Amino acid sequence: MARLVMKFGGTSVADLERIHNVARHVKREHDAGHEVAVVVSAMSGKTNELVNWVNEMPKVAGSNAQIYDAREYDAIVASGEQVTSGLLAIALQSMGVDARSWLGWQIPLKTNAVHGAARIEDIDGSDIIERMGRGQVAVVAGFQGIGPDNRIATLGRGGSDTSAVAIAAGVKADRCDIYTDVDGVYTTDPRLWGKTAGASKAQRLDKITFEEMLEMASLGAKVLQVRSVELAMVHGVRTFVRSSFDDPDSIDSSDGANPPGTLICDEDEIVEQQTVTGIAYAKDEAQISLRRVSDKPGIAAAVFGPLADAHVNVDMIVQNVSEDGSVTDMTFTVPSSDLEKAVSTLEASKESIGYEVVQSDPGMVKVSVVGIGMRSHAGVASTAFKALAEKGINIRAITTSEIKISILIDQDYAELAVRTLHSVYGLDKE
Ligand code: ADP
Ligand code: ASP
Ligand code: MG
Repeated sequence: MARLVMKFGGTSVADLERIHNVARHVKREHDAGHEVAVVVSAMSGKTNELVNWVNEMPKVAGSNAQIYDAREYDAIVASGEQVTSGLLAIALQSMGVDARSWLGWQIPLKTNAVHGAARIEDIDGSDIIERMGRGQVAVVAGFQGIGPDNRIATLGRGGSDTSAVAIAAGVKADRCDIYTDVDGVYTTDPRLWGKTAGASKAQRLDKITFEEMLEMASLGAKVLQVRSVELAMVHGVRTFVRSSFDDPDSIDSSDGANPPGTLICDEDEIVEQQTVTGIAYAKDEAQISLRRVSDKPGIAAAVFGPLADAHVNVDMIVQNVSEDGSVTDMTFTVPSSDLEKAVSTLEASKESIGYEVVQSDPGMVKVSVVGIGMRSHAGVASTAFKALAEKGINIRAITTSEIKISILIDQDYAELAVRTLHSVYGLDKE
């Protein structure tokens, strides 16, 4: 008998039929004698609709300001998960399984004060543990907690993954199963090849290290929220990504035969380590170039200080060598959604920075090659550069770390670049 946390994403709870299907998965584990807590997302599309309403409300009420109260944003967008947790509890009860829904504040799952992107600070799992011990399934609304101001706080988009891993750590679960609309973590996003069955060349990974998954998620693979992987790594939560669309009754209970899926685990559990494990990509990157910036000490601080104050996330930074020793060019990337804010911040600081002109390009994509094996293998980067050059793809910027290489290119070449790299590192399915 094990203690399990099972998390189901938006597509898995998209309508009542699918919620019933989820309930069958939960009942399977419950009937096998496991103690179960479930975490659910809102129905797919629901959170987008709610966010949209939040954005529209001030305009409809006659305000030109694009601002709203973040505490109210959280009160609104958290509501999608309230509905699905209640519906799943009803589905389970209707199937004879003792179940109870839990909102973030009822657990309580305590967060910090950053509404809209709150971090979990503490979970009191005692009540849930006691009830699970009595055979009751806890159905927890994902994505939400309660802030120090006693108000609902949400964990950022995709945050139900983080709720699930945090609850798994909080109730000392043996495993956290993330059920989603793909049957595991792949060498790259399998949707890159469209929806035609069999067209995808991506391969499912049986196992991936926490570190590689953290890089993949941070670099655009949205199958898990970045923070959930961090938490899993810190607390050593064994996390298994699998499909909710498998027939609940044709799979053995989780500790029996291995269902298809990907285990995220420590490096020493992986016997055969490839040099490159996967390719991730992030769309919606924007490039900003400052032309003829004065080349003197303190210039980077003068540029990036105001951007940090404006909460703009700067990513890749390239500073050219100055030709005459007095001026140079500086190029960096920001998320496209921050581009306007970044440019107006730089324009407001033009005098203190000292540059001639700011240029920007919103349509960039960052493609990244990830693999723990890069630590011990040379030449991984040059293989990527050569393969992209052969396809005529121009590289705008490069950053590297011990286990990844990120390359900035024009968005028109995104798919070609990912497919090219996927193939050149031998990741294509035969
Ligand atoms: P959920 O609603 O269950 O949380 P998400 O849409 O957030 O699901 O995440 C699952 C999606 O992540 C998949 O449909 C897939 O398109 C995408 N994805 C991106 N990169 C990968 C990858 N390397 N492996 C698997 N899925 C990936
Ligand atoms: N419903 C939230 C979102 O769409 C949280 C989640 O699905 O993980 O971002
Ligand atoms: Mg998700």
